Amino acid sequence: MDRMAVHIMHDTNSDTRTLQRNMRVLIDEARRNEDKYQRFQSLELLLLGSHNLSELIRMVIMQYPQDFELDAISLVLDDPHYEIRTILEDEGVDIKQYPQLRFNENNNVVQNDLFTSHEPELGAYKTNLHSKLFSHHNKSLNSIARLPLVRQERVIGCLNLGSHDDKRYISGTGTELLQRLSAIITICLENTLNLERLKRTGLTDALTSLNNRRFFDQRIIEEIERSRRNSQPLSCLFIDIDFFKRINDEHGHTVGDKVLQQVAKLLDSHMRRSDVLARFGGEEFAILLCNTAADTAEETAERLRSAVESNKILLSNDTNLNLTISIGVATAYSAHSVLNIDQQSERLLAAADEALYEAKQKGRNKVCSAKKPTNA
Ligand code: GH3
Ligand code: MG
Ligand code: MG
Repeated sequence: MDRMAVHIMHDTNSDTRTLQRNMRVLIDEARRNEDKYQRFQSLELLLLGSHNLSELIRMVIMQYPQDFELDAISLVLDDPHYEIRTILEDEGVDIKQYPQLRFNENNNVVQNDLFTSHEPELGAYKTNLHSKLFSHHNKSLNSIARLPLVRQERVIGCLNLGSHDDKRYISGTGTELLQRLSAIITICLENTLNLERLKRTGLTDALTSLNNRRFFDQRIIEEIERSRRNSQPLSCLFIDIDFFKRINDEHGHTVGDKVLQQVAKLLDSHMRRSDVLARFGGEEFAILLCNTAADTAEETAERLRSAVESNKILLSNDTNLNLTISIGVATAYSAHSVLNIDQQSERLLAAADEALYEAKQKGRNKVCSAKKPTNA
């Protein structure tokens, strides 16, 4: 073989090797992409299948970082009226345990420009721009992805991903998958929130926005069960506005409605998170005080009575309306009761109602307590 032929063969061999190497790199990359695509798809299916808001949010801030080995994540949700926070708390989430989850609330804006941009941002981590989003993360980050969650032209939140690797999030690279993921998270958030809103409408009183009687009837059963399990007392207050018919007669039904709304607001402002306040009907309200013994319940009732008495209701003609309420108090010590839960609930309500009747008999603007614990 002459030298020329040897040279050509050598070149061909080396070209083939380069080609094979390039081919392997491409195949490996295709496999990695396929694998990444499949993992994204599994995550998306999980998100779409989530049953409630807390499950959805846990998947986003816990499962996603774990499955995709993310170094840092934060989810900021626009929640001006504390609606999402309340739903999560009602679902039993202890929000303090999730520093990755933030709310853009009335007086507490996480970051001003967070809810203005509708476009995702991928690139280098900049302390002045991004540190607030990852303040719970103590290692330094080198690249970030900021993904606005946009629904009908409105930014409802922002998902922020951070990496120690400066090449993980690069502007213009791999944005489509992240954009699709954030679109799915947005739809899931909307969906679970709407379901929750629907559930709540059936259990809320339209005039006062308090819980309605249906809600109260469900909760009293749950609270009696809980008080039995924990051997804790459960108190119930029955509240009725005094001479309310006169207000309607003298000032009209619309003023009557406004008065009901104001009383509801005032009562609500005195409640603890664990208390259950409901509009029981007409001008009657009921309250469950969990883990509360008779003497404390009576003190609470007295505070409410006095608050309503000293609260002047301003009418549109600039006159003040004086209003009072009467309250009946009863307490159930359920732990060793022989009654079943429905019977206990009926007893507790009947005892509070009787005590209220006594308060009315004694001249109104009074608190009266049931003679003895309902299941002693
Ligand atoms: P008492 O001190 O004995 O409780 O007297 P009262 O006038 O408050 O009691 P009564 O049960 O005679 O009247 C309750 C009134 O509440 C009658 C009803 O028209 C009025 N009411 C019930 N629901 C509503 C409502 O949604 N809006 C308005 N404006 N009035 C209501
Ligand atoms: Mg009444
Ligand atoms: Mg009344």
